[in-house]
Amino acid sequence: MKRKPNRDVEPVVPEQILEQALAASETDKRVAPPAKCVVCGSDTAPTSSEGLCWVCRRLKISAWRDNDLQMGAQE
Ligand SMILES: [Zn+2]
Repeated sequence: MKRKPNRDVEPVVPEQILEQALAASETDKRVAPPAKCVVCGSDTAPTSSEGLCWVCRRLKISAWRDNDLQMGAQE
């Protein structure tokens, strides 16, 4: 049984509080904020260079694996 990621759930943290937290954290870290995931808008993993968060990277990797299996089965 496959579990679907809950992309449509409401954010747990209200936007206003989130903005305040972000504004407060800006003074802490002077480094550039992590890029947003191009798929779901989450913070990307610090090690990611492809604009994907770890969730979407895992989905992408598992999709590759599925493709490989399908291609292999067609041969
Ligand atoms: Zn993502």
